[in-house]
Amino acid sequence: METKDLYKVLGLSREASQDEIRRSYRKLARANHPDANPDDPSAENRFKEVQHAYEVLSNPEKRREYDEGPRSFFNQQGRAQGQARTAGFSDVSDLFESFGSFGDVFGSSARATAATRGKDIRVSVNLKFKDALSGVTTRVGVPVEEGCGQCRGSGAAPGTTPKTCPECGGRGTKSRDQGFFALSEPCSRCEGSGRIVETPCNQCGGAGRVRRNRQIAVKIPAGAKDGMRIRVPGRGHAGQKGGQAGDLFVVTRVEEHPVFERRGDDFVVGVPVSVVEAALGAEIQIPRPEGGTVRLRLPAGTQNGKQFKVRGAGASKPRSEESGDLIVRVSVVVPRKLKKREREILEALAEERDEDVRAGLFREVGEVGA
Ligand SMILES: [Zn+2]
Ligand SMILES: [Zn+2]
Repeated sequence: METKDLYKVLGLSREASQDEIRRSYRKLARANHPDANPDDPSAENRFKEVQHAYEVLSNPEKRREYDEGPRSFFNQQGRAQGQARTAGFSDVSDLFESFGSFGDVFGSSARATAATRGKDIRVSVNLKFKDALSGVTTRVGVPVEEGCGQCRGSGAAPGTTPKTCPECGGRGTKSRDQGFFALSEPCSRCEGSGRIVETPCNQCGGAGRVRRNRQIAVKIPAGAKDGMRIRVPGRGHAGQKGGQAGDLFVVTRVEEHPVFERRGDDFVVGVPVSVVEAALGAEIQIPRPEGGTVRLRLPAGTQNGKQFKVRGAGASKPRSEESGDLIVRVSVVVPRKLKKREREILEALAEERDEDVRAGLFREVGEVGA
């Protein structure tokens, strides 16, 4: 009956240690698990072979029987079947636990009876420019899945109680005969819960869980940036069987400002200055993102595109006492039209600097673009 060499199934020699058996089993079970190989129907068979090989070889007594010969093993196995069923399953759930997050890929049914942490929820919140800057406490609508209040999570209508699943006797698992050995798998009738709801609760339809739109107050820190993730612990979906709730993650969407451009904790603002201000130097007023102005001393001879930094006039750094800077980008604006007197002054300036401004009159110039 034992068609394949169990050691070969695990890729091991007959001298393999318990540790090697366990390591090889984990590796192969993970690689061949049907949920991890949805497009490969042969994976399930390999998975079962691996599982069976492990059931036998990890048990010193069964391993000795197997090593001694198929006949003795067959007889023993027949008697010990009931025990093998449960033992096999506990090994598998142990395997799921040890895989951590990868275990989720295998489906939660195998662990339905264990405490399960609720899933995290991610929502985004739109913020006005000013609110993001100053910080705000805002209410966010969150669709939270939680235990049904009417049936207290049992899924059964008030006055009734869930029945023990007749298919699996409440264990939540069933063994299926494969040749002369048995495999444990979650019960399909009760989906691994061990219980059957005959009259479902009308609030949750028997699921024991409902979705509610909860308004949750979220504190947005001053200086919140676009795309910032704020964690609100314990406000995600409720856990099951005593597991803790997941977390809520709020992602900020901050409205853009027509004048101020955010760069990290700093803001950049473009400020036009006249040719005269740039040449002579001037004290200019710069608008601040929070409102109000700050004075900036422009040095004589400031060039177009020059940037100045006003320390601490940017955004508050989130969760900090410090503030970013305000970066002022100067653009020198040349007057489009000159009054008669202004023209005379500039011509006098040209003469003073030996610049022959009339030379341009001898050459045809065409304007490109605006
Ligand atoms: Zn209910
Ligand atoms: Zn069942």
